[in-house]
Amino acid sequence: MRFSACLVAAWMMVLGCAPAPAGAGQEGASWSLTASDGKGVLPNDPSPPPALGPGAGFPPALPASDQGTIRSVDTGGEKAVALTFDMCELAVSTTGCDMEILSYLRQKGVPATLFMGGKWMRTHAGRVVQIMREPLFEIGSHAWTHGNFGIMAEEAMRGQIEGAQAQYAALREVALREAAEQGCPPPEIPACMGLFRLPYGRCSERALEVLAEYGLRVIQWDVAAEGGKDNASPAVARAAAGMVRPGSIILMHANLVPRGTAALVRSLVEDLEAQGYRFVKVSGLLGMGEPRLAREGYFSRPGDNLSLDARFGFDGTGRKRP
Ligand SMILES: [Zn+2]
Repeated sequence: MRFSACLVAAWMMVLGCAPAPAGAGQEGASWSLTASDGKGVLPNDPSPPPALGPGAGFPPALPASDQGTIRSVDTGGEKAVALTFDMCELAVSTTGCDMEILSYLRQKGVPATLFMGGKWMRTHAGRVVQIMREPLFEIGSHAWTHGNFGIMAEEAMRGQIEGAQAQYAALREVALREAAEQGCPPPEIPACMGLFRLPYGRCSERALEVLAEYGLRVIQWDVAAEGGKDNASPAVARAAAGMVRPGSIILMHANLVPRGTAALVRSLVEDLEAQGYRFVKVSGLLGMGEPRLAREGYFSRPGDNLSLDARFGFDGTGRKRP
């Protein structure tokens, strides 16, 4: 009896309806890093993605003028920037969920855009449902299994795009159902993802056309904040802060693959706040001005990611050619 009452109490704490105010301790534990959030801890499920059901739609196709990769936004000098985090996962392995980053952002009330791989969503389904119910975070697509859109055939690209969207739709249903079962008001979770981040930052002309057909805006970055072996080094944060301009899109990872990103996030947020910057989601940044578009995908300069084409299997997913 005591045991079940305790379980119920714990469950209620974990699944409080409204997001807790910044710094609130009540829900703190549920956003803490646990063993199952670790990199490579959860088993890899290599089975195909769910099928695109009736609930898995896409935004309307983009006009040709919106095709391309968005590297930053011209905010007219307004000091707003978007923090973005990729949750990449190849076909052949699993990665983690960096709850240290998410709980820090949540405590600070700092919004962020999270680009999740579709299979990553399946691996970390419980976390994704939890994140979907937190309005501070926005979810974009990072393909199904990190396929390389610079070298993939068109059908494979479509599979990567549709698989991630189908997984998102399936978990959105779970999040809505869970909220209803708890008697909570329905959380505002967009019916589909409208933002896409290219794995490896790689693309082709055909990839840009296909992504525009699915109505997905391709969000890249002008600040690749992580660098070197240990991102916790203050020098990495200083270098990143020095690259930030009004309208910047900042790339980092929240899958526990690069080392020390949580420390980098803390330093960077504090530094940018001291410089007078505020943080917005990518969708908010896009509403503030014209995006700066490119036709190529790259880290810092065109061509600097081409060597990655040969390093992650035949198509970027880590798989060997069948
Ligand atoms: Zn990635």
